[in-house]
Amino acid sequence: MIKDSFGRVHDYLRISLTDNCNFRCFYCMPEEEYEFSPPAKLMQAKEIIHLARIFVEQGVRKIRLTGGEPMVRKDAAEIISALGSLPVELVISTNGTRIPEMLPVLKRANVKTINISLDTLKPEKFMLITRRDVFHQIRNNIELLLANNISVKINMVLMKDLNDNEILDFIAWTKHTPIQVRFIEFMPFKGNHWTSNKVFSLEEILSVIEKEYTVLTANEGPHDTGKSFRVPGHKGSFAVISTMTAPFCNTCNRMRLTADGKLKNCLFSNEETDLLSALRNNEDIVPLIRASIWSKKKELGGQFTTSFEQLDAEAINNRSMISIGG
Ligand code: SAM
Ligand code: SF4
Repeated sequence: MIKDSFGRVHDYLRISLTDNCNFRCFYCMPEEEYEFSPPAKLMQAKEIIHLARIFVEQGVRKIRLTGGEPMVRKDAAEIISALGSLPVELVISTNGTRIPEMLPVLKRANVKTINISLDTLKPEKFMLITRRDVFHQIRNNIELLLANNISVKINMVLMKDLNDNEILDFIAWTKHTPIQVRFIEFMPFKGNHWTSNKVFSLEEILSVIEKEYTVLTANEGPHDTGKSFRVPGHKGSFAVISTMTAPFCNTCNRMRLTADGKLKNCLFSNEETDLLSALRNNEDIVPLIRASIWSKKKELGGQFTTSFEQLDAEAINNRSMISIGG
């Protein structure tokens, strides 16, 4: 069992397969020219599988593949297949572009839930956010997953004056469609020009929805990052990831492995442990994992010492989201 000094058991590993992506979401990638890591700097498929096995031996029960866009990696199918044979719940976060090609692999690997990013239901706004004109393709791919009995969670990053006027459209979508929409409060990362006045908060989200619908709280898992809700009569549900206004650190069970093989004990940690170099030097990885998690800070990497309204995003020492793995 991997534990931190606050007694939190860590049994959920998020692995970034690449910091490369076929989208250019402005809140995720730094605006200035971003250079993707050359493949040799990234963990190779065998190394990912080896490290994942070590984590599973230490008690990991859930693995999420993320990125960058995990499915743009050429050997993504090989990695998904290998991890699918481990005794873990395997889930994936993706922008959804490569679902049709990957579907057979996903089914064979027993992937039961996929999180897809979709910040708007308007094709022009989709283009503005991602710089890619593929809204209809993503919508079709979501239907394809549902038709194949794979659960879909929609990740929608909410930003004031950009897409906060679409909250009710997303809730309307859940009426006949069994998806979970996850409204995510906009978070600060290197180069994403975060300011507190762009955050649309949990409270504000609920007040918009409650004007139109009856909202009930739904059952939550012990480590859920989202506060879950449902509207009576709707096939789907919604959740709010309230990192900025109501963080959920006290039940955190998550560790992150970046595509270049660094272990981050928190999304906002500024310390990293280089597992890939240690693996390549034939060192024992387990003590490194244990020490990293033991040193985890109580909340938000210890970097958010004020309320989010007072936060100086420039003072936060972290990578960009695309190079961490969301
Ligand atoms: N490419 C995949 C995707 O888009 O789902 C996986 C990686 S992406 C970094 C994972 C999630 O992080 C996405 O849902 C994305 O919307 C979210 N994300 C990226 N930047 C964010 C930010 N600044 N604040 C909140 N969520 C963010
Ligand atoms: Fe790519 Fe996902 Fe980041 Fe968008 S949110 S740029 S799809 S990694």
